[in-house]
Amino acid sequence: MLSTMQDVPLTVTRILDHGTTVHGDSQVVTWTGDGAPQRRTFRDVGARTARLAHALRDDLGVQEDERVATFMWNNAEHVEAYFAVPCMGAVLHTLNLRLPADQLTWIVGHAADRVIIINGSLLGLIAPLLDRMPTVEHLVVSGPGDRSLLDGARVRVHDYEELIAGKPTAYDWPELDERRAAAMCYTSGTTGDPKGVVYSHRSIYLHSMQVNMSQSMGLTDADLTLVVVPQFHVNAWGLPHATFMTGVSMLMPDRFLQPAPLAEMIESERPTHAAAVPTIWQGLLAELTAKPRDVSCLTQVTIGGAACPPSLMEAFDRLGVRVCHAWGMTETSPLGTVSRPPAHAIGTDAEFAYRLTQGRFPAGVEGRLVGPDGTRLPWDGESAGELEVRGPWIAGSYYGGAGGESLRPEDKFSSDGWLKTGDVGVISADGFLTLTDRAKDVIKSGGEWISSVDLENALMSHPDVAEAAVVAVPDTKWGERPLATVVLKEDATADYAALRDFLATRVAKWQLPERWAIVPAVPKTSVGKFDKKVLRRQYAAGELD
Ligand code: ADP
Repeated sequence: MLSTMQDVPLTVTRILDHGTTVHGDSQVVTWTGDGAPQRRTFRDVGARTARLAHALRDDLGVQEDERVATFMWNNAEHVEAYFAVPCMGAVLHTLNLRLPADQLTWIVGHAADRVIIINGSLLGLIAPLLDRMPTVEHLVVSGPGDRSLLDGARVRVHDYEELIAGKPTAYDWPELDERRAAAMCYTSGTTGDPKGVVYSHRSIYLHSMQVNMSQSMGLTDADLTLVVVPQFHVNAWGLPHATFMTGVSMLMPDRFLQPAPLAEMIESERPTHAAAVPTIWQGLLAELTAKPRDVSCLTQVTIGGAACPPSLMEAFDRLGVRVCHAWGMTETSPLGTVSRPPAHAIGTDAEFAYRLTQGRFPAGVEGRLVGPDGTRLPWDGESAGELEVRGPWIAGSYYGGAGGESLRPEDKFSSDGWLKTGDVGVISADGFLTLTDRAKDVIKSGGEWISSVDLENALMSHPDVAEAAVVAVPDTKWGERPLATVVLKEDATADYAALRDFLATRVAKWQLPERWAIVPAVPKTSVGKFDKKVLRRQYAAGELD
């Protein structure tokens, strides 16, 4: 028998309606770098969202299901696009600003983007590529930048503000099926072509509710969140949608992502929460050591995207900032696990260890560990296997291109439809996930596995080490052995022998690297994670000996 409940579709439009009415006074604050941040209420953002939707439909002819791309920093206009495009029935396609040209042009072609909304400061990246983007017909340019870069370009160029000026501030949003596509994001293509993940209205709605749970980020309308994680990186971890549900104000850094302006905006705007990958925080902490600022406003920082080193969590603890560690991926919207220690551990010696794990699955995400032979492994804290997940905000396939079948590669999906994450780890009996590595980064040494993350965390707890990345390199005797690349802090005195002695007190002797390199910086991926591919290539080319 069916229920007697109303069947109201869970759509992004409902989130927009709610945010702009119930939380109309909450704000999107965008850093401008000139001492006068731009402040816009959710109500104003809602009115401008309607204007943008009118402009896209009436002036640019955007149709239902059409992909509309953004090539933008985190700012209020990007939030407007986040709502206008899905709510009018089209699909928001956030482009990663840091992708190499070949990948970017491939992705734009694969998604068949006809319109790109772009920040003026980024025109220099797109202008030279337009001839390789035959699907693109319109560029809508927002904010400062050198527009002469587009002189003679084949596309039609519009100014964002001129385009939306005078348009109605209300829009008769269509009633959409909650399973329809709302947004898409391509994985960064570490292996093979990038893959398109398409989020539905329903998946975004349910994911946003989970982000807001007290066991997750748990923010309220008393909070201001500094959204450092880019809006092109898995929808800024769901924050723009989640905040419109709860009235959390957002502080958007725009293009000012360097440690000094971040420290400055924290001191002057006083956010209570912030979210970013570990490398951003390493940079900020170095900046705060060099030039202390008052960051006491921050009560919580969400760290994910890569394992949070213990030294980073300790450094934040010393500043009185509570780190919450979370795991996820483009395919998981991204919230997959969150580390909130269980009540019995709070205030005990066990608490820190719990906080360092990747955390527990929220309701809505199921996880299982699978051994190399395909058997399901127990949650005993010891049996290590590949993590597989499923749930209403987890991808079940990839976008196959216009008119194409969706793709379900065997190495990414199990025969019963679970997502194979490519991450290896253990789960404790009380449900806490500890990832030891990405399957492709594990060091397979003579039949034993060495976790590159364990070695990195141990090295980064040395007072002279700013960053450390460990990769597998070929070894004639053992198959693979670890290579440790280390960035030393200014004035550091430690040498290889000292670092090795330090490591020997923390990991098993057979795991100690024989190969070392001091490097000026660890190469980073387009979303700011250690780029181990580049390190392996540099080693193979003899550049790291
Ligand atoms: P990319 O593959 O380009 O890094 P994603 O952002 O989708 O793009 O990355 C997801 C991957 O990042 C995960 O599969 C995992 O390997 C890693 N990751 C994310 N969060 C964590 C975390 N808290 N601890 C360890 N690894 C993490």
